Amino acid sequence: MSKKTYLVTGGAGFIGSHLVDRLARLGRVIVYDNLSSGRKEFIAAHLGKKDFKFVKADLLNRKVLQGAMRGVDTVFHMAANPEIRVGETNPHVDFSQGIMATYNVLEAMRGAGVNKIVFASSSTVFGEPAVRPTSEEYGPMIPISVYGASKLSCEGLISAYCHMYGMQAWVFRFANIIGRRGTHGILIDFIKKLENNKGFLKVLGNGRQRKSYLLVEDVADGILFAWRREKGEFSIFNLGTDDDILIADIARIVLKKWPEKKIRIRYTGGARGWRGDVPVMLLDPTKMKKLGWHVRYGSRQAVEKAMDDLLKERAA
Ligand code: NAD
Repeated sequence: MSKKTYLVTGGAGFIGSHLVDRLARLGRVIVYDNLSSGRKEFIAAHLGKKDFKFVKADLLNRKVLQGAMRGVDTVFHMAANPEIRVGETNPHVDFSQGIMATYNVLEAMRGAGVNKIVFASSSTVFGEPAVRPTSEEYGPMIPISVYGASKLSCEGLISAYCHMYGMQAWVFRFANIIGRRGTHGILIDFIKKLENNKGFLKVLGNGRQRKSYLLVEDVADGILFAWRREKGEFSIFNLGTDDDILIADIARIVLKKWPEKKIRIRYTGGARGWRGDVPVMLLDPTKMKKLGWHVRYGSRQAVEKAMDDLLKERAA
């Protein structure tokens, strides 16, 4: 049987590159990335190999994207602006890198006759749900960030393309993802602050925010697990742990592992870290469990392991 080809948008990014490591064992891989937040070093192990191609280009370049789509079996669409806070000052980023880029991906797929897409969505599509843990069926969905609105719009576009043009989609709503090759998010934020250590660690909000954290290896395995098994036309899965952790506890774990001691925590105050932040979030992962998938690390263990891995990575 001939090898299949997988195109990973954002494949040089944090989550995308872990997916690429796994997909490279299954077939040919094309990484499509503009390196805006991704890094070539994350895919260095594959560069130059026969069944691997790196296209350094923007998803807004429809001509290049259309060319890259030829012969592809499944698109893993991971590219997006990863920083929710960008929307505080610039709503255009999530519109162009989220909605417009996803529309371009779908149109290029339609043009090339590619009909399978895996999409990286987010718990932020729910906004501030009244029910927690929040299942995939929860509604109404009222995002409170431009990022969340963009993800929900993308889910809608993908669903419509499935119905209108015979595509098949796997949509994953991620919790907060942490671990090796991280370039953003809470642990990186804390580490960067500690590297400029002024004797204290500034934590956004009052520390009482409570969220679910999933290790990046678990997210990559979970995506592939469900993609291989689920046969539905349009399937949505929550991808998170079934527990959560306080932001204050994350700060304490980070300080416990940080080599320098006597650092104090300073909270900026307020229920949210920033405008658009959802302070309490817990996804219901029952649907993934019913499929037979289980996370290896709960939120606290994921934070501990991710912090160890990031410190090792920085020391190397
Ligand atoms: P990341 O920034 O490491 O990865 C995004 C990648 O997409 C980067 O390599 C970047 O260079 C690339 N990219 C961005 N815009 C592009 C464009 N216009 N054209 C081509 N390439 C482009 O972030 P990540 O954390 O790995 O996120 C991957 C996906 O998962 C994103 O869609 C993100 O929204 C989603 N997600 C992440 C988290 C998390 O906690 N990290 C949570 C929920 C959802």
